[in-house]
Amino acid sequence: MNKNKKFLSVFGIVAVLIFSIILTLGPKLMPDADLPTWQDVFRAVGFFESDKATQAPLSVHFIDVGQGDSIFIMSEHGNALVDSGDRGNAPKILDYIKSRGVYKLDYIFVTHYHADHMGSMAEIIEGIEVGQIVLPDVPKKMLPTTRSFENLLLAIKKENVKRVIAKTDDVFRLEDLFIKVVGPVEKYDNMNDLSLVLRIDYKEISYLLTGDAEAQSENGILSSKADIKVNILKAGHHGSNTSSGAEFLKAVSPELVIITCGRDNSYGHPHREVLRRIDKIGAKVLRTDYFGDIVVYSDGKSLDYIRLCKVKMKEWAQNQATIRYLRFCFFTRFKPAT
Ligand SMILES: [Zn+2]
Repeated sequence: MNKNKKFLSVFGIVAVLIFSIILTLGPKLMPDADLPTWQDVFRAVGFFESDKATQAPLSVHFIDVGQGDSIFIMSEHGNALVDSGDRGNAPKILDYIKSRGVYKLDYIFVTHYHADHMGSMAEIIEGIEVGQIVLPDVPKKMLPTTRSFENLLLAIKKENVKRVIAKTDDVFRLEDLFIKVVGPVEKYDNMNDLSLVLRIDYKEISYLLTGDAEAQSENGILSSKADIKVNILKAGHHGSNTSSGAEFLKAVSPELVIITCGRDNSYGHPHREVLRRIDKIGAKVLRTDYFGDIVVYSDGKSLDYIRLCKVKMKEWAQNQATIRYLRFCFFTRFKPAT
């Protein structure tokens, strides 16, 4: 350990001790001072969902489904689910949603027909009330012949769910929450590029969910001049280098990028080039493989985020990204993009 590091670690320990003393004795010694409570501190490092956060009018939950996507949008005026992860995830997702007191999904979006996005969708449709399901516009010859896809169609029919094929520029509304289809802007012969690209707007806060859209679709959206500047981006295709091109990232210019991928997945997602490109635009990264379920709360003006899943302490300590994450929790506050 060099001198600098030694100094930093001693300084760190002393700082934590002083901080603990202030937190414990502070309110007694200085009753009028506005000191942080232990709950504030735990919340800052993501251990608990605070009451204030859970009461936020909008929360977007990037549920950890391993290598796949499932994004639950919970708002005061209704709820939506984007993708279901691969087969076997329905119990977790349904439990996750219902444990938050939600028993109806006003919208379900299926970004595209790959198993890691719709493998559990049939079971979800059968397990909860669904208002309508929004599907991608996939040419007949490209429709999959998989069991998951067959089951999805059967479940839609059985549960008599209203089915909508999404067109670019369609807007789905939950009062002041808007979910707009900004892509794909063309017909592509690659299933990933046919992914629905959804822009979510709630007051001053915005998200872009890109499914597995790759460079071709990203470039199409760029040339369509659609407004894709948002606060939070769900990186396309699990952080693969086929997606999140430099130009696209620049146009989106998010403060936070969420990457949904499985731990030690065989594709090597997220790819290093993508992490580098994200770093270049100065955005923070949160990954489901490291942090489990990631939730971003908002009042429509600012953002707050919390990590729900417990990661083993040993892994935390060994993980460089965790240290970056903790630093991020302590020192970063989100402000809406201007
Ligand atoms: Zn995928």
